[in-house]
Amino acid sequence: MARGRMVPARIVSRMPAAADPLILDGIALRDLMVKQIAARMAAAGHPEVCLATVLVGDDGPSHTYVRNKHKFAAAAGLQSKNEVLPATASQTQVEDLVGRLAADPAVHGILVQQPLPAHLDNDAVLHLLPAEKDVDGLTTGSLGRLVRGETGLVPCTPLGVLRLLEHYKIPTAGRHAVIVGRSTLVGTPLALLLSRKGVDATATIAHSRTSNLAELCRSADIVVGASGQARMIGAEHCKPGATLIDVGISRTESGIVGDVDFDTVKGIAGAITPMPGGTGPMTIACLLENTLTAATLQGVHL
Ligand code: NDP
Repeated sequence: MARGRMVPARIVSRMPAAADPLILDGIALRDLMVKQIAARMAAAGHPEVCLATVLVGDDGPSHTYVRNKHKFAAAAGLQSKNEVLPATASQTQVEDLVGRLAADPAVHGILVQQPLPAHLDNDAVLHLLPAEKDVDGLTTGSLGRLVRGETGLVPCTPLGVLRLLEHYKIPTAGRHAVIVGRSTLVGTPLALLLSRKGVDATATIAHSRTSNLAELCRSADIVVGASGQARMIGAEHCKPGATLIDVGISRTESGIVGDVDFDTVKGIAGAITPMPGGTGPMTIACLLENTLTAATLQGVHL
């Protein structure tokens, strides 16, 4: 640097650092939601509301996810039961189990933990879930209700993103949201939720064939990474002050990382989810919210 352009040390020390982004803390909001659900259950006289999970096989992360779901269900005052089948279970065994739960009036919500072992027909199993008990919101019936704007159960991870935006008062009306990923689990239902009347964002879905991804994301007020590509969203994808929501989970040699390169964008973004501690805990909180909604759809007074 030329001598005349050097900034004296005392001035450098007075220069403001890039403002820290608002951290959208999913753990704190999950804990708040669990407390609110427990209070609602207590106020209603502790009616019996039961979540059933179906776990097939030995997938380690799936066992951890299911354990956590039961832990937080108990903390919220909900009953829960975990039905476990071996990895060798036949299609008939899984369908019989799901059919029994679907017909059981004491079970209000059913979650079939994904992924099922490869030899099983996942869609055939999901088709057995009544829309009122589909707390994962993944069946054709639930997704159809979402498209039509009817009351129903919506997928937990997109609902968790919406709850984070609401809680932290991130404006959505008239804002541009780019969602990177178009799955029926995350990207597509999230775009529908964000563009619903009352939320009123203008939602764009991007995917692996989107040609101008960085430019598109830079035009957005809200960017949601749901591609499962480690740290693919960096500074070139981030408009100053934008909100970045990280849904992606990639298992790398350096551990579990998200879609968003947190350290690169934290000086640019206005708000950002931590990873871990952002959307993951919110997925569980919204499963509990959905279980309550399912119970009310089945006539439980809450
Ligand atoms: P899918 O694999 O079903 O979908 C990934 C999507 O990302 C696809 O639409 C794909 O495009 C798109 N994509 C992949 N690579 C790129 C790229 N380079 N540029 C732009 N788009 C790309 O995954 P899911 O939707 O099931 O899950 C997404 C991520 O979210 C995963 O990492 C998953 O583990 C995580 N997850 C996290 C949860 C949480 O609670 N935080 C809950 C559920 C999932 P195309 O369609 O063209 O192939």
